[in-house]
Amino acid sequence: MKAKIWMSSPHMGGTEQQYVKDAFDTNWIAPLGPNVNGFEQDLELFLNDDCYVAALSSGTAGLHLGLVLLGVKPGDEVICQSMTFSATANPIAYVGAIPIFVDSEVDTWNMSPEMLEEAIKDRIAKGKKPKVIIPVHLYGMPAKMPEICEIAARYDIPVLEDAAEALGSSIDGRKCGTFGDIGILSFNGNKIITTSGGGALVSHNSSIVKDARFLSTQARDEAPHYQHSQIGYNYRMSNICAGIGRGQMEVLAHRVAQRRNVYGQYFSRLSDANGIYFLQEPQGYFSNRWLSTILINPAEAGFNREDLRLALEKENIESRPLWKPMHIQPVFEGSIFYGNGTSEQLFENGLCLPSGSNLTDTDMQRIFDVFDSILN
Ligand SMILES: *Cc1c(COP(=O)(O)O)cnc(C)c1O
Repeated sequence: MKAKIWMSSPHMGGTEQQYVKDAFDTNWIAPLGPNVNGFEQDLELFLNDDCYVAALSSGTAGLHLGLVLLGVKPGDEVICQSMTFSATANPIAYVGAIPIFVDSEVDTWNMSPEMLEEAIKDRIAKGKKPKVIIPVHLYGMPAKMPEICEIAARYDIPVLEDAAEALGSSIDGRKCGTFGDIGILSFNGNKIITTSGGGALVSHNSSIVKDARFLSTQARDEAPHYQHSQIGYNYRMSNICAGIGRGQMEVLAHRVAQRRNVYGQYFSRLSDANGIYFLQEPQGYFSNRWLSTILINPAEAGFNREDLRLALEKENIESRPLWKPMHIQPVFEGSIFYGNGTSEQLFENGLCLPSGSNLTDTDMQRIFDVFDSILN
């Protein structure tokens, strides 16, 4: 069996172990310490938009805290992009709220501003204004944040921006994660940089970030004993994980360039092939190209995305259909959905290809060999 080619595997830069060793040498083996503070500062510097960052145990924890901090209560409605990873939507259930799913649009594959506004109007007409809007930047491609934030502001609804896949992406130079009232990032093992597992909450509002740190460390009031007046969580990032994150931040810009290079190779080799389509950046949009994705039109190509996926799998090459929309997931069966079929179409015809910054030329050649054989 040939060696496995993964879609997106961890890629260390080299200095991570030194930061982790420092944590051991100084005995900061805890969910606080110099690496946690340093990693937060590195992220604030990178995002560079007068924002504050709280390092957390996961992106999911960030979304959960985000909903709590935006005051979402049981029975409230939360608008959520339907096409996404389940981790975007699950926290809505954690707080007992009701997800209202909204379809994608074709330019970015993310939340459609038109359908967002339709959903807001209809929910208000039915007697309940949504409490929060959650757009997502899938595969690193920024959602239409200027339009989404304008609509959100018009109806006075806060935005919780799921930038888990989009660290390093931007619109007109403004970084993803900094558009919403609260943004979240993920450093899971498969993301563009990793802390093995981890996440962060981002906001321009320093008191929101202070509250996130407070809630993420069990909501301890100021007192010599353990005193609590709110429900807390154990969501802070470990100082060990943060050490890995500090090392990864040193190579983030390079990782973005490498992922974009992988995308560029697919584009130049395949964009002329019959029935294969790429998602290109709208004017001013910059994608970190976390994952390279294609759409296959089976009538034009003569094969469908499942034929290609299985051909790659036979060569021990990992690929995966695009995210299955939440409104057609069994766990969210019967949920309210506003859409026109775009995300179902994308799921039907889209495939994520190996995209890691650590792919070698030999790996790429093995992948293109599969394309060559299926295209002929
Ligand atoms: C990875 C991911 C998350 C969750 O992040 P974790 O750190 O794994 O909890 C949330 N939303 C999206 C879109 C993701 O891809």
